[in-house]
Formats: sequence, C-alpha cells, structure tokens
Amino acid sequence: MVSVKEYVKGLYNQDISQCTDRQLYHALLEMTQKAAGEKESSQGKKKLYYISAEFLIGKLLSNNLINLGMYDQVKKELEEAGKHLAQIEEAEPEPSLGNGGLGRLAACFLDSIATLGLSGDGIGLNYHLGLFKQEFENNLQKETVNPWMEEHSWLTRRDVSYPVKFGGLTVHSCLYDIAVTGYRNRTNQLHLFDIDTVDEGIVTEGISFDKEDIERNLTLFLYPDDSDEKGHLLRIFQQYFMVSNGAQYILDECMAKGCSLHDLPEYAVIQINDTHPTMVIPELIRLLMEKGIDMDEAIDIVSKTCAYTNHTILAEALEKWPIRYLKKVVPQLVPIIEILDSRARRKVEKWQKEEKKETDNSLSVIDGDDNVHMAHIDIHYGFSVNGVAYLHTEILKKDELHKFYELYPEKFNNKTNGITFRRWLLHCNHLLADWITSRIGNGYKLDAMELKKLGSLVDDEEALRQVQAIKHENKKLLKDYLLRTQGIEIDDHSIFDIQVKRLHEYKRQQMNALYVIHKYLEIKGGKLPARPITIMFGAKAAPAYVIAKDIIHLILCLQQLVNSDPDVSPYLKVVMVENYNVTLAEKLIPACDISEQISLASKEASGTGNMKFMLNGAVTLGTMDGANVEIAQLVGKDNIYIFGEHSDTVIEHYKKADYCSRDYYEKNEDIKEAVDFITGPKLMEIGQKENLERLSKELLNKDWFMTLLDFEDYVKVKEQAYADFEDRDAWMRKMLVNISEAGFFSSDRTIMQYNEDIWKLG
Ligand SMILES: *Cc1c(COP(=O)(O)O)cnc(C)c1O
Repeated sequence: MVSVKEYVKGLYNQDISQCTDRQLYHALLEMTQKAAGEKESSQGKKKLYYISAEFLIGKLLSNNLINLGMYDQVKKELEEAGKHLAQIEEAEPEPSLGNGGLGRLAACFLDSIATLGLSGDGIGLNYHLGLFKQEFENNLQKETVNPWMEEHSWLTRRDVSYPVKFGGLTVHSCLYDIAVTGYRNRTNQLHLFDIDTVDEGIVTEGISFDKEDIERNLTLFLYPDDSDEKGHLLRIFQQYFMVSNGAQYILDECMAKGCSLHDLPEYAVIQINDTHPTMVIPELIRLLMEKGIDMDEAIDIVSKTCAYTNHTILAEALEKWPIRYLKKVVPQLVPIIEILDSRARRKVEKWQKEEKKETDNSLSVIDGDDNVHMAHIDIHYGFSVNGVAYLHTEILKKDELHKFYELYPEKFNNKTNGITFRRWLLHCNHLLADWITSRIGNGYKLDAMELKKLGSLVDDEEALRQVQAIKHENKKLLKDYLLRTQGIEIDDHSIFDIQVKRLHEYKRQQMNALYVIHKYLEIKGGKLPARPITIMFGAKAAPAYVIAKDIIHLILCLQQLVNSDPDVSPYLKVVMVENYNVTLAEKLIPACDISEQISLASKEASGTGNMKFMLNGAVTLGTMDGANVEIAQLVGKDNIYIFGEHSDTVIEHYKKADYCSRDYYEKNEDIKEAVDFITGPKLMEIGQKENLERLSKELLNKDWFMTLLDFEDYVKVKEQAYADFEDRDAWMRKMLVNISEAGFFSSDRTIMQYNEDIWKLG
C-alpha cells in the first residue's frame, strides 16, 4: 500500500500536518477507493441481487480502512503527523439512504456477503435529500432536508442508463455505484439508480415539494410523505423506477455472461427486501416476454429467481396499492398482475377443493376492493419466504400467513437477523475489540462464535475489571461527544439506560416515558435512587405519524422538566439526542449499560439494535419479542431482564379484542399518576396542550400496543436491573456473558444460512 504521506504529497503537494481534516478525508477516500477497486470482484456464474428501498450504510471511511487492512497503518501515519482519524471522520457526511432496522440490515448483509467472498450486489435508489434530518424546535420534531452528496464522495458514476416508462412519461436513468468492501476479501457493489433531472431546488420549506413533478422529485426523498394520494403515487413511481432499472441491469449482466434467459435462475437470484421491490416480479416477466419468452415460461423463470423476506407482522405495514394507482403509474404491469391474480386464484381454489377446505379469496393478489397485495405476489411467485427471527417466522406460519404456509410449506424458512461485527465491534468499539484480541486472539473477527472463549473469563477478576474500565472509558467518550456535538451534559458515573430506534407505538417509547414520570414523582417524594440514572432516547418519527410525534414531544418536555429541576436532576436525567442515525448509534451503543428492547410481544419482527447492544456489553431489559427470545436463550435468565406478557397472550387479546387500557389505569395508582401527569399543570406549562391531550387520550381510550398492560411489570423489573447494577462484580459477569454469547448474531452466520438454503451461490 502507498503511504498516506506520499499520496497526500501527490494530491496537494503538502505534508499531512499541513492539511485540513477535509483535505485528509478526501485523500483517504480516494486511496481507499483505489484499494477497493484492486480487490477481486470476479463475477462467477451465479450472482445474488439484493433489492431494497433502503441501505442505511453509515459512514464508510473507517469501515473500508478496516476491511481493506489499511486501518492501522493509516492511523499510525496520521498520528505521527498530529492528526486523528476520529476527527477526520467527522468531515464525512453520513449517506441518508435508509430509515431504520430494515435498511441497516441490508447494509450489514452487503458487508457479510463480500466478507464471505460471495458474488452479490445491492440494488436501490440514490435519494439526494435522504429520509429527513430531525431538528427539535419548541420541544417538537421538525423535519428538514438531509443533503449528503458531495463532489468528493463514495459514489462512482457508471456509464449505464435505462429507459423507464411510466403512464404518460418516460425517464432515462443514470447509475452510481458504491464499492462494498469485504473484510480481507472481495469487493462487491451497491448500485444506486437515479435521474439527472432531479432538482433539490423544488423543496420549499421543511421537506415540502411538488409531489407531481416526477422528473424533478423522483429520487429526492426516501419515503416521501404518503398521507395523500399524490404521495402514494410518488412511492409507486419510485418503486417501479427502482425495480425496472434493477431488472434491466440484471438481465444485461446475465446475458453478458452468456445466459440464455431460459436459464436465468442459474445466473441470478433476487432477494426482495420487504414488499417495496415486489414489482420486480411482474417487471421481469414483462421484460422476458418482450424478449420473446412466452408467458408461462416467463412466470416459471421469475418464480425460480425471486425470494422474499418478510419484515413485519403489523398489518398496516403490509403494502397494498389500489389497482387504479397502478393503472396510472405502471399501466404496462396491470395486465400481468391481473394474470398473476387469476392464476393464483385458480391454484388456491383447486387446492382448497382438494384439501376440502372452505373456499375463500383471502390469498388472492387482487382483493374484492381492487387492492393489489404486494406480499401475496411475492409469496405466490417467489420460491422462498423468510421471516427474520425464530418467533417472527413462527407467528407468520401460525397466524399472519397461516394459509399461505399450508399452501406452500416448503417455501417458508427462518433467517434470524444479524449485524456485521466489523462495524458494530471492530469499528465502533476499538477498546473492546483490542481487549478481546488480547484475550482470545484474532480468530473471532472471521468466526464470531469464537467469542464464546470469553466465557471462561467470568471468574477472572482482572478480566472483569478490564471490561468495566472499557465500558467507563466509552461512557466518557460519549459524554464528550454529546457535549461537543449537541451541547448535552451527562454524568459518566450514572447508569446509561438507552432506547434508540425509530419511533413507533409498538416499540413503546411511551412506556419508558411513563417510567420517567414515575421516577420523577418518586424522587420528588423523597425516594432517591442508589445511583444517578441517565435515560437516553434517540428516534425519528415518520413526518405524518401524529402520535409518534406527540411521544417525541412528551419526551422533550420531560427532558426540560426533569433536567431543570434541582431536586431531581442530580438523580435523574433525560436525554433525547437529535437526528439519531448510524453515526450516533456507533457512539451510544458502546457506552450503554441497559439496552431497552421493550416492544409489545409479537410486534417486533427481530430487532438488530438489541444485538448491537449485547455485543458491546449492555444488558437487555426487554420483552420476549423478536430476537430478544434468542438472546434470552443464549445468555440465560440471570443475564437478561425479561418482563411483560407473552406473545401468545397478546395475540389472544387482539383476537378477542378484550384489552381495555382504562381498566389498568383505574386499577393501578402508579399508572394513574403517570398518565394524569401528561396533562397535569407541570407539563402543560412546558408543552403544547393539543399534543399532550391527544397522547393522553390515545393511551386511555385506545392504547393499541398495550402500554399499560405491561407497565407495572416493566417498572418492577427495571428497578431490579438498577438494583443489580450496584453489585458491580455480578454486573460485569452479565456484561461478559452477553459479549461472549453474541457470536450467533453475526450477519456472517445469517448470510451463510441465506446462501445454503436460498441463494446457493457457488
Ligand atoms: C440498528 C439500527 C436500527 C434498528 O434498531 P432496532 O432497535 O432494531 O429497531 C435503527 N437505526 C439505526 C441507526 C441503527 O443503527
């Protein structure tokens, strides 16, 4: 590898010490891109295409340096010249190409695919202004644009363009690639399609823009506000633009390798990440027919090429589009979708007759109200359907997709999510990674199950002290970072209790907020905690999700109330970080003591935040939901804090519609006190009447995600965790057990399973 010194000299005719951090960032970016390009990227016969509306990739510089084996030398050279990589990294913008867990999963998967030496690329869109940037104003979330593309960036313009035809409009795409480096292995690509006519200038205030000006807005935002019809139509424009480009690209690449299209499944496998890319199925069928393949065979080929991952059991999140929307935006797909529907209906009818089942149309592609169910297309016309954690897949099979499971038992499989340990340990927690290496060697970096070796250290006093010292060091680093970047002050000797994830009622940030009220009242009443507690939140709410924004308002009001009260603030602090993203996650997670994973049981498909926290030595406080179930199994009940109703009970409540939040409010004085506080004089003085009253009404009259059901048990178990924290030796053992058992959650394991069971790449 060429030295940084030489490279910088060539670029700027300066020494490292004379360069600004920005200059150094650009130099390192170029160096890294060159090195990535020199790695093997052979095609092989069969290739995976991972299509996803989101890739929440995070900053790339450090990660690429680590993966390319350049990190240590670069760091050393910079330090010798008085420069710091951590500082230089701050010049790098975080690409805003994702929203939450699903997009981050796609990014972890790309890392693992390259690390395992598999040929597999990502396909998505290049959103110029990202999701949105979150700002707080008057204790409310305000959305602004999040521009992240710069002149010097990881995007490489490719000489590729496809026509994409919509009803009444044809656009021509362009393509940018981002190199995906494997850890000490090959380089793959993330292909991001775009159009040159996009115009950031059409955004007026906040994130408002003309939703009908497709040529200017097509790739402006991820998930544009879809609270109206124009927003829905724009999403369909985006989805079709993504999959039509993807499908044309895939067919081109396969034909270039000598594929005859009749054998497409031997050359390509397409993983459909949630329902957003579903239209790739009818689009591929259409393109194959255009190339002279008859419909029967085209459907057969595509059905052997596409596999679907389900990410949610929230009914409202399973996409269905009115057929009239599709007629407007993608009229050429409608006849194909209608044929897919009639074939599916015939198949289901025949099966129901054979099995002597009652006939119904609940498995059809187009329902009686003329809505197209995207997931139904995926399940009928894909060869694999997977859930993302054991419990989630079981619920799909038993409940949500039960009839489909009976019809196609062979298609259903589970792939418990994972995270890349390169980013979520080696990069974000150097102290811990170096300590692990000093104890068990480097093997865990490629075989995460080797972390189990740390299990033998649970009675080693010195090891436990070192783990504790590292946690404290990370808490100090977070403290400095939050002070410097957000002006937030925290006490590094307090318990760091952290809940960071998208804001959604099912994730129940509102339950944690009610706990804050409960604790505030206790402290006001003279009951002081053994040690100060810092409860941290980070969450963006979808711009049109009213109650989620009300919950943010409540948390921000509590932050103001609690932190400015001299009776309370020495014992309790509330922190809501602004604009939670991957960069913040990388700072928060290594510093965490207690990881809040408190979704209503049965509602969180997997979670991956839970895995990142565990790997970094936080102890989980959670419900038996998603991958928490598997975490609990691995670490054992002494090393996790579980509370709340079982998923079966919750599902029963929904079936019987017998949950009544008011009953819990009337019965339990603590709950009553906490809920009443939301609309009491103290918060009313700080916050907005309308928002707080709406939230309070929601909790009392609906509480769809059963916050009050689990509140009492939550308080009890959380207090137990805080009390146990004071037995420092016992707590350190819990930390170490969590780290040592985290190996299962490496996305390398997940990807090996996808490859063995679904992709079957050479
Ligand atoms: C991991 C991650 C998520 C997903 O968190 P969950 O707790 O699993 O919902 C969301 N956002 C960011 C920035 C992440 O890094």
